[in-house]
Amino acid sequence: MQSKSKIWLRRLFCLLCSFVLVLTAGVSSAFVAEAKSRSELESEKSKIQSRINSTQSKLNSLSKQKKDTQEYINTLQEKISLLQDKISNLESDKNALQSEIDATQAKIEKTAADIEETQRQIDQKQKEFDATYAEYCQRLRAMYISGSASTLEVLLTCSDLSSLLTRSEMIKSVSQQDSATLDSLMKKMEEIEAQKQKLEEKRNQLNADKKSLETDKAALQKNINDISSTKADLDSEAAECNAQMRKLSKQSSEYQEAIETDQKQLQQVQNDISAAIAAAGSHGSGSISGSHGSGNGRLRYPTDSRSISAGYPNYSSGRYHGGIDFPVSTGSNVYAAASGTVILVKYLNYSYGRYLIIDHGDGLSTLYAHNSQILVSVGEKVSAGQVVAKSGSTGNSTGPHCHFEVRVNGSQVNPLNYL
Ligand SMILES: [Zn+2]
Repeated sequence: MQSKSKIWLRRLFCLLCSFVLVLTAGVSSAFVAEAKSRSELESEKSKIQSRINSTQSKLNSLSKQKKDTQEYINTLQEKISLLQDKISNLESDKNALQSEIDATQAKIEKTAADIEETQRQIDQKQKEFDATYAEYCQRLRAMYISGSASTLEVLLTCSDLSSLLTRSEMIKSVSQQDSATLDSLMKKMEEIEAQKQKLEEKRNQLNADKKSLETDKAALQKNINDISSTKADLDSEAAECNAQMRKLSKQSSEYQEAIETDQKQLQQVQNDISAAIAAAGSHGSGSISGSHGSGNGRLRYPTDSRSISAGYPNYSSGRYHGGIDFPVSTGSNVYAAASGTVILVKYLNYSYGRYLIIDHGDGLSTLYAHNSQILVSVGEKVSAGQVVAKSGSTGNSTGPHCHFEVRVNGSQVNPLNYL
């Protein structure tokens, strides 16, 4: 009975030994395989990440250039539209001057017609004068010829005083009539001559006015030409800037595409890493698998504050958050949530600001963002509760707080499940 049970026990022991041996061999070989492919994958991942970072910084600098160029274009456009306004005003001034010139020209033409009409009247009166004068001379001559050729003779041939007086009166009356007619014609001609003189003066004045208007118009035109040429320069500069803008936009979208491609690759590598970890976990290394239940206390709080101003996974607005925020004043202690190795210390002037990541092993890591100061460096081993940073409000932050993330194999999880 005893020897039988001893044999049985020995057999059982041997069986157990061989089982353990097989198990150990399996586990250790799985570990080696995982370590190798994981480290390769991790290095590939960091290469892609640094490529993304470099492209991102190029993209940022392009964005700044685009912003500057756009501002410059806006300034140019403002100047151009001011010049355009000036040109429009001057053009309307010029048009007003042109209508004034046209009106003056019409007046000049009207005055010229008036002068012509006056001249015609003068000529008419001259003719009348000449005809009346000719008649007068003829009558006088006729009077001398009839009778006995001279007024004196006409008078002397009179038989009596009464007939002499009558003849004398007659001659006087004829000559008076004629000289009155001639006088009146002469006066009329003088009047018309004076009228013509005035019209000519008026025409000269109008011509002078027109000349001065035309000088003003020429000056205005020169002004318009000068401004137009300045505007043309600005227009061509704006066109150049717009071309530059298009070039920058094209470059930006190329960089953007490169980042997207890299991000897809990064996701692929991340998936491979997760798969490798899952494979390793199935061989029994899983000291964290199944241990991250709700509030398991595996991690300690990263700040002295226990109050939370924004939770996981979303802000109250519904926008994705990915971590939890502890409101603490700038310069407060930020503690390592567990022992581990600092694997990243970085400063982004957007997003996380000054932040660090600590790897705690088994795929678990923690991230602390918006710090004013970081007290550790990459590769440094830290213990749980060690002060690793001083809180702040760097990066995309509206006030001092500690943004805390817990990641399992790189993916964000609810930190409250670990605290
Ligand atoms: Zn946050």
